[in-house]
Amino acid sequence: MTKITSIDVFQMAWAPEDPPTKRSAFVEIHTDDGITGLGEASPMHGGLASLCIMQQHMAPSLIGQDPLDHAVLLERLAHVCVKLGDGAMTGALAALDIALWDIKGKLFGQPVHKLLGGAWRARVPLYASIGHNAFRTVDEVVSVVEGRVEREKPAAVKIRWDGDRTVLDHDINGDIAKAKAVRRALGDDFPLGFDANNGYSVGGAIRVGRALEELGYVWFEEPVQHYHVKAMGEVAQRLDITVSAGEQSYTLQAVADLISAGVRMVQPDIVKMGGITGLMQCVALCHAHGVELVPHQTQPSIGHAANLHVLASIMHLTKPAEYAEPSGRMMPAFRQMPTPVDGFFDIPSTPGIGVEIEPAAFAERRRPFA
Ligand code: CA
Repeated sequence: MTKITSIDVFQMAWAPEDPPTKRSAFVEIHTDDGITGLGEASPMHGGLASLCIMQQHMAPSLIGQDPLDHAVLLERLAHVCVKLGDGAMTGALAALDIALWDIKGKLFGQPVHKLLGGAWRARVPLYASIGHNAFRTVDEVVSVVEGRVEREKPAAVKIRWDGDRTVLDHDINGDIAKAKAVRRALGDDFPLGFDANNGYSVGGAIRVGRALEELGYVWFEEPVQHYHVKAMGEVAQRLDITVSAGEQSYTLQAVADLISAGVRMVQPDIVKMGGITGLMQCVALCHAHGVELVPHQTQPSIGHAANLHVLASIMHLTKPAEYAEPSGRMMPAFRQMPTPVDGFFDIPSTPGIGVEIEPAAFAERRRPFA
């Protein structure tokens, strides 16, 4: 039996000179046969809360355990740590799960997608996820969109608003004008998504949704506040356009609640909820309900590679993979990190998650968590 011998949690600076605001959160799990697994928590706010939970409340009970028991070990921890609440806690579990799958793949000498049942595809197309449009003029939005399309050759584009979450229905006419301008710039046939980032009331969302239907947009993401699950379902059921949500759902049960409310495209995030094990449970849930699964991505590194293994395993993969702003988060401290090439990500094919550290660059960026 392989045994877990030690667990290190740490941050990595996206570049050696970057300030503490530009760091992501990682875990390394070491075993007695010399195999090391690498996992990543949600990079939001540097992942500090998840690192603390891993170090203080999770790592001690994993020492001496068999990494192949990962689902049992992590489900037990989820129930032991339940009072910590979802979010930072489920991000910690996600990081550990990804690291344990990395170990499992390396132990068997197989890429993770083989252990998930095989790949339907060797690469996945990407969509350009383009944020901060609440703060741009119509012309600026079009210029940024055209630049990304030219550089990345995406199969689709999603324009995100990223506005002030404490204000609803701030500029509906302006938002529709930007959606129209992007449609005009990219032509009638280009697949487009619109991400409200929870910026509307139900009435506001219906008004914007109707305009998006006229403009031929393919999906309308998070129209209302994520915690108003019933309202999200109401918007989804009243509109013809596909309404999506779920990047702020932290458990399988929360994703099931969205589906029950009427949402027909869900977007759980591998580094926020459950890791590979949790996302595969969502794959089964969506398959059972005929709901589209399009995982959310903030463009982490190890988390991104882990996500690609799951995408490879989904039969009905109906949308391209999210590719957020090109960012130092996909930093150069890794070998074989899947980066966009002509509009596609290749599925990693070497054992485990399939990404190796570049020792010198890694050491330069590693920041201890104490
Ligand atoms: Ca989103």
